[in-house]
Amino acid sequence: MFPGAPADMVLPAFPPSDSPTFMTQKNHIAIAGAGIGGLAAATALAQAGERVVIYDQFDQPRPVGSGLVIQPVGLNVLHQLGAGAAALGMGTRIHRMLGHEARGGHRVLDVHYDRPGGARFGLGIHRAALFQILLDAAIRAGAELVTGHRVTGQQNRRLSFAGRPDAGPFRMIIDASGAASPLSQMRARSLGYGALWATVDWPQTDLPRDELRQIYRRASHMLGVLPVGTLPGSPAQKAAIFWSLPASSYQDWCEGGLAQWHSQATTLWPDYAAFAQQITAPEQMTMARYSHGTLRRPWGDGVVHIGDSAHRASPQLGQGANMALLDAWALVVALQEARGDDGRAMQIYASARRWHVRVYQAMSWAFTPQYQSDSRVLPLLRDRLFFPMSLVPPMPAILSRLVCGDLLPPSA
Ligand SMILES: Cc1cc2nc3c(=O)[nH]c(=O)nc-3n(C[C@H](O)[C@H](O)[C@H](O)COP(=O)(O)OP(=O)(O)OC[C@H]3O[C@@H](n4cnc5c(N)ncnc54)[C@H](O)[C@@H]3O)c2cc1C
Repeated sequence: MFPGAPADMVLPAFPPSDSPTFMTQKNHIAIAGAGIGGLAAATALAQAGERVVIYDQFDQPRPVGSGLVIQPVGLNVLHQLGAGAAALGMGTRIHRMLGHEARGGHRVLDVHYDRPGGARFGLGIHRAALFQILLDAAIRAGAELVTGHRVTGQQNRRLSFAGRPDAGPFRMIIDASGAASPLSQMRARSLGYGALWATVDWPQTDLPRDELRQIYRRASHMLGVLPVGTLPGSPAQKAAIFWSLPASSYQDWCEGGLAQWHSQATTLWPDYAAFAQQITAPEQMTMARYSHGTLRRPWGDGVVHIGDSAHRASPQLGQGANMALLDAWALVVALQEARGDDGRAMQIYASARRWHVRVYQAMSWAFTPQYQSDSRVLPLLRDRLFFPMSLVPPMPAILSRLVCGDLLPPSA
C-alpha cells in the first residue's frame, strides 16, 4: 500500500515486470508538452522500453504557476512511476480543506481527507517541485526532451514547429500541451473568474501547515493559503496564496495598488496579512484564467489528447493535475492491452477514462460558481443549505471521495 493512496484505490497494473516490452514498432512516440501529463506519460512509456521524445516550447525546463494539490488518485500514479517518495519528500500532507465566510466567520466548507490518522491525504506541492520530480523520472527512464520547440500543428503523424523544421513521422503523437493546445479541437468556455497566485515563504502564523484554508465573501471574493512544502534546492517551507478575481479585472487590480489590496485582503482575513505582506510588487502575483471544456473524442488519426488538452476546468476541485496523471497512466495501460494496435489503444484509453472525466467535469461545473461568481443566490444556498447538508452522513464520506478523486473508478 502506498502512502496517501489506500489499498482500495486500484489502478490497472502496468507494466508486468517480467513480460517482454509490449511495443514492437520502431518509431518514436512524440509527446507535445513537458508538463504534468506529458512527463508522466513519457516516464511510463520509457520505463516500458518505448522510445519517447518530448517537445516543449520552453528553452530551459521551467515550470509556470504556483502550488497544487495532488490527490490520492494522482499520488497513486506517482508511486507507480517510482516518483511517489520524492513527491512526498518535497510536498506537504494536507488533511483538511476548510473554508469560512468572511462576514460572520461561519464554516462553509469542511472536507476531511480521512478519519484522523487515516491513510488518505492530499499532497500540497509546488509546481516546480513536481515538475523536477517528473522530469528526473522521465530522463532516468530514457525519455528525450527537446526544448525550444513550439508546436504549431500536426499532419500525417508529423509535428510542425514555429521557426523549426518539421519532425516525424511518429508512431503516435500524444498531445499533452495543456490548456492552450494547438492540436486540440476543443471549444472551451472561458470562466468569468480566475485568480492571482503567488508563492511566498511560510511565515510565523497560527495557521496549521496541513490544511488548505480559504475565506469567502459571498462568491465574489475568495482568498486562500495552500501549504506546498519545499522548492528544489531549498529547505524553506513555502505557501501558495491565491486571490480570486474576475478574469477581466487584472488591469484594475494592478492599477489599484498593493496597499489597497493588502488592506482589502487582510480586512477579509487578518491571518492572510503575514502571507500578503511578502508581496511587494504586482509582478509577484500571476493571473491564472480558467476555462471549461471536454473533448468528446480525445483521439484522432495518430493523435491522442491527455490532460488539459482533453478536458479543462477551474481548479476548484483540485483535480486537473490528477486527471493528467490518470490520463497518462490509462493511455499507457491501454497501449499495453492493445499490443501494437495503437488505434484500438486510443479507444480503450478514451473509454476507460470517459465516466471519471465526465462526472468530475460536471461536478466542477456545478461547484465553481458557488465559490467564484457574481451570484448572490448560490453562496446563500452554499452557506444555508449545501454546507449543513454536507455534514450529514454519508455526505462527509462522499465529499471526501470526491476530493480524493475516486468517487468513481479513475479507469473503468
Ligand atoms: C492556478 C492553478 C491552480 C491549480 N491547482 C490545481 C490543484 O490544486 N490540483 C490539481 O490537480 N490541478 C490544479 N490545477 C490544474 C493543473 O495544473 C492542470 O490541470 C495540469 O497542469 C494539466 O496538466 P497538463 O499536462 O495537461 O498540462 P500542463 O501541466 O499545463 O503542461 C503543458 C505543457 O505544454 C507546454 N506547451 C504548451 N503549449 C505548447 C506548444 N504549443 N508547443 C510545445 N509545448 C507547449 C507547456 O510549456 C507545458 O510545459 C491548477 C491550475 C491552475 C492554473
